[in-house]
Amino acid sequence: MSEDKEINTALKENMDIKAAMSEDKHINTSILSEEILEDLKSNRIDHMTYLPGMEDIHSDIPERVIAAMEAYDYDSYTASDVRAALDKKNRGPEDFAALLSPAARPFLEEMAQLARKEKMEHFGNSINFFTPIYIANYCANYCIYCGFNCHNKIKRAKLNENEIREEMEAIAATGLQEILILTGESKQMSDVHYIGQAIKIAREYFKVIGIEIYPVNSDEYAYLHECGADYVTVFQETYNSDKYESLHLAGNKRIFPYRINAQERALMGGMRGVGFAALLGLDDFRKDAFATGMHGYLLQRKYPRAEIAFSCPRLRPIINNDRINPMDVHETELLQVVLAYRLFMPFASITVSTRECKRVRDNLMNIAASKISAASDTGVGAHSEKVDKKDKGDAQFEIDDDRSVEEVLEDMRALGLQPVMNDYVYCG
Ligand code: SF4
Repeated sequence: MSEDKEINTALKENMDIKAAMSEDKHINTSILSEEILEDLKSNRIDHMTYLPGMEDIHSDIPERVIAAMEAYDYDSYTASDVRAALDKKNRGPEDFAALLSPAARPFLEEMAQLARKEKMEHFGNSINFFTPIYIANYCANYCIYCGFNCHNKIKRAKLNENEIREEMEAIAATGLQEILILTGESKQMSDVHYIGQAIKIAREYFKVIGIEIYPVNSDEYAYLHECGADYVTVFQETYNSDKYESLHLAGNKRIFPYRINAQERALMGGMRGVGFAALLGLDDFRKDAFATGMHGYLLQRKYPRAEIAFSCPRLRPIINNDRINPMDVHETELLQVVLAYRLFMPFASITVSTRECKRVRDNLMNIAASKISAASDTGVGAHSEKVDKKDKGDAQFEIDDDRSVEEVLEDMRALGLQPVMNDYVYCG
């Protein structure tokens, strides 16, 4: 039985959950209090059953993604499979599978050259700039690897409309024209109307607006789109539902099928683009990266107008749990994932998180990634001097690249890349 299944069996049978979890190298059991464990035994909900109010769109895409992931036997691919994938102009899922496999490791240099060529064909030497803004960090979920989880004793904060405006003014003054609004995942503390108001304020300052919030129904995505949001990013974290259950112990996020269908609901609500990510290192990173790519690929085929984006985060330490680490996803593995995404879906936007250091990010921008955040801070109220710092909420995770917009601009230009603040012009 796999470790995930053992944990889930322990949960189901009210056994010693802590003992089962201690077998999992990714879980620091010191953050599981007795109170939480008792609560889990009595209040545990089925992670595959929708809760009241959650829209079920009956999509076949999750089933297809998971079937493809489960069938993906990366050790079965050979150097000749990789060679065949590299020699093609248009690559399909089988080629993607080969490029993510261990057999592709000796081909990384060639993959990098091809990825650079593909990127030049679709994006030229441009690099899109944006920054995240955390307007709240309340969260009702218990993701045991995240600093915002509802049981982690951190400082919580939520900006009011004036503070949101101050923050956005400060960001706009740096020259940035794209913003990604994040809230943590508490519908109670940061309801859809609150997020809609933040988007409307953002529209006064920015040309492109993304949101990374708790998943909502398609009519709510439609409302947020009307307020001015262009795209939605949702991290699935892992596509292995057994592992997913063992990592997401409470809250709406626990409902695996509702989360995996979020991007499709966002497209049904009229959003222009959707972003995908697995948190690499939570589970088998090759399978998760494969599922992430397939998710974007299948949705793009179903909704040809959709703009697809991938993020490539690895696990980072969090406040009160510095034992969390990227485990077996080292820089070489991260590079392989980014290259495979670019060669599989050459037109997709690829972002590399500030979880990575300047050296890693700049290298990836130069080769295959197309979008970079600057002046990032994962705390609430981090950008404006006018927002009272004593009210500032704690950060979600440690970042490894805190360069200002000006510094990232200089560094991109030094690489011969052309920074682009916005590539959309809205008429009317
Ligand atoms: S990963 Fe997201 S949903 Fe989970 S605890 Fe962190 S902020 Fe909340």
